[in-house]
Amino acid sequence: MDTLGLYLSVPFCKGKCTFCNFASDAFPAKRMPAYVSQLCREMAEARGFAGRHGLVVAPVVDSVFLGGGTPTLLDASQMRAVFVAVRQHFKLAPDAEITVEAAPGQIADDMLGALVECGVNRVSLGVQSFVDREAQAVGRNHTGASCLAELKRLRAAGIANLNLDLIAGLPHQTAASWVESLRQAVESGVEHVSVYMLEVDEDSRLGRELIGPGVRYGAHAAPSESMVADLYTQACATLDGEGLRQYEVSNFARKGFPSRHNCKYWTRAAYLGFGLDAHSMLLDGAGDAVRFANGDELDAYIAGEPEREVDRIDRLAAWEETVFLGLRLVDGLSLSRLRGSYSRAWVDGFEAQARELARDGLMQLAGDRVMLTQQGRLVSSSVFGELLAGALA
Ligand code: SF4
Repeated sequence: MDTLGLYLSVPFCKGKCTFCNFASDAFPAKRMPAYVSQLCREMAEARGFAGRHGLVVAPVVDSVFLGGGTPTLLDASQMRAVFVAVRQHFKLAPDAEITVEAAPGQIADDMLGALVECGVNRVSLGVQSFVDREAQAVGRNHTGASCLAELKRLRAAGIANLNLDLIAGLPHQTAASWVESLRQAVESGVEHVSVYMLEVDEDSRLGRELIGPGVRYGAHAAPSESMVADLYTQACATLDGEGLRQYEVSNFARKGFPSRHNCKYWTRAAYLGFGLDAHSMLLDGAGDAVRFANGDELDAYIAGEPEREVDRIDRLAAWEETVFLGLRLVDGLSLSRLRGSYSRAWVDGFEAQARELARDGLMQLAGDRVMLTQQGRLVSSSVFGELLAGALA
């Protein structure tokens, strides 16, 4: 049976972390009631929107993810209203994975009670670093000790599935301090760890400073690109060795705990997104993917404008998405499944190119499956470029 994932964006944060490139911000709390109303309205209208565009909405939801910013900054009553709307407009599977993102120290007692009451069974905590100086340098006011205390508090409240995020490449990070963050992550006993390499782009203050001159956000104290690659490699070895198996470029989980929701993105399964800058992908009646997204202006979103534009994914774009999303997974792609869905010439070209890249140690073929090697994951953008060019040559 086809199932659906729901993503709900709540873009309110206490402050803007210097590395963050999301549409979130320290928006005033007085905007929250109108935001929550629009979020609930959007859910109510989802089936109508899908129907107008000939899109299929699977009857059962098996994953819900609240992220975007810091959803736990809502009032407990607003959080309850969001979940009332989720259950009013969608049928949740009894074992649905329900995740809420949170920042350490930003879950009030009544909010924690509301999360449990609403059926939240997974919390993703934005630790970023267990080393106090590194967390503070990027605008966080938590400490390693307060993060560990928060994880224990969540566990004691009955949240049995915990993730923590770490970032490789923060200002002041060293090989030794990174080992310390990894050690704390493992010893905390969490089921899942996400490790992101700091993004150097125009959309975050730290990223901008890394590209251009400036000393305000600590870019001068950030590790070099090659050192970040070493930190990432170290994380893969350490976490894998401690039973947190790598299953995706940035994600590691104990057995049975990969994120069901995030796996939908890499396998191109259907999901509906609501809220600021939220993205969606559904299938049309012919089984072709259709993507649509909300804008990233808070006022326009709350006013319910403009209606989202739908982007029908043609066969070539679908093929490209399948390859570059699927290869993010450590288990890679099945050649026979690709042959069942796409042009034989494309898949043959892809396989030939993968064999070439395997000779360079960047890819691996095992039976029916094709995957990146650890080395290939480090240079995945250039590998994808060669693969797609080879397949279409
Ligand atoms: S990293 Fe998280 S808490 Fe920090 S600004 Fe971005 S969304 Fe908000």
